[in-house]
Amino acid sequence: MLECAIIGGGPAGLSAGLYATRGGLKNVVLFEKGMPGGQITSSSEIENYPGFFDHQKSGMEFMDGWMEQCFHFGLKHQMDEVTSVQKEGDLFLINIPNKEPIKAKSVIVCTGSTPKRAGIKGEDEFFGRGVSSCATCDGFFYKDKEVALLGGGDTALEEAYYLSNICSKVYVIHRRDGFRAIPATVERVKKRENIELILETTIEEIQGDMSGLNTLILKDKNGNLSELHVPGLFVFIGHNVNNKVLQNKDGSFICKTNDLGQIETNLKMHTSLEGLFVAGDIRADAPKQVVCAASDGAIAALEVISYLQERS
Ligand code: FAD
Ligand code: NAP
Repeated sequence: MLECAIIGGGPAGLSAGLYATRGGLKNVVLFEKGMPGGQITSSSEIENYPGFFDHQKSGMEFMDGWMEQCFHFGLKHQMDEVTSVQKEGDLFLINIPNKEPIKAKSVIVCTGSTPKRAGIKGEDEFFGRGVSSCATCDGFFYKDKEVALLGGGDTALEEAYYLSNICSKVYVIHRRDGFRAIPATVERVKKRENIELILETTIEEIQGDMSGLNTLILKDKNGNLSELHVPGLFVFIGHNVNNKVLQNKDGSFICKTNDLGQIETNLKMHTSLEGLFVAGDIRADAPKQVVCAASDGAIAALEVISYLQERS
């Protein structure tokens, strides 16, 4: 029987694991379907985590120490994808394909979010063959070549800058003339000589052949179509929350969500279901920052400790 099951090993899950184990809980397992670290491991840099200011380090390098620290204090990692969480009486069942359900007294769900697809004709066909959502993973394939990038948020513009160090030119295609990214990042991108902004424009179609993507059909605000010949397109248009583990078979949720499927919590990360906590990007109103996800995880773990003490 686990005292606490943590699902998802990004900044929220690892921070929850650290606080739960250092706080004295004995049997705490982090269920993470891959290597722990979360979304930030796909980022080329992180410069807004307090006390950490090193442009040379990637998100992957930044997260390395988090895992080591957690495991040192007794957190166990089980590399499994959890399909669902159920509550039976006072206990939770953690369901994993082809395994017996695992019982836990409390659960913290930290499954984060996943990059959205734009739904453009040809996007699925060429995903992995020219279309990507990870500049650190795939940028190098386009060394000294021209690439395009879709989106106008922080992720899009930060990754455009990163790609501009590798690629000969980066076309940023954005549907508006204003950006969601913070002004400092917008200014940095505008000053970069090999980044060209193509604004108030959408991608109508992604075309290519057996060797991959080669052409984007663009549509400007007046409806005029044009072709952009590039071998790579990076799509950075936001994320969907990974909430499936909290869904019943009929599609309803075991706890309250908002219209976007984000999980409602109070300031202590309690969900509407007793003993179930969430932390990080999956919760409603999450600022979607590493520092905030880590804070949520710590709060949730401290609340789990109180919850279990009240019942002992
Ligand atoms: P995630 O990091 O999404 O982690 C969730 C984890 O859960 C994943 O490891 C996933 O594999 C696992 N998981 C999901 N479902 C299951 C399941 N069913 N079973 C088991 N495991 C599961 N924030 C900043 O503060 N500064 C930045 O500079 C910054 N840059 C970013 C750059 C990029 C490219 C991206 C994509 C994001 C960036 N962010 C940045 C945002 C930041 O990464 C997120 O806010 C943060 O990672 C959220 O942490 P999380 O733990 O809630 O979720
Ligand atoms: P985001 O802020 O939601 O921005 C998504 C962008 O994609 C917007 O510009 C949006 O356009 C555009 N878009 C959405 N759907 C589209 C579609 N179907 N076709 C074309 N364009 C589309 O997402 P994000 O940039 O991934 O950031 C997510 C969160 O992580 C944010 O809270 C962000 O601040 C945070 N983050 C922070 C940092 C950092 O602090 N350094 C770095 C990365 C991410 P509109 O603007 O027109 O809606």
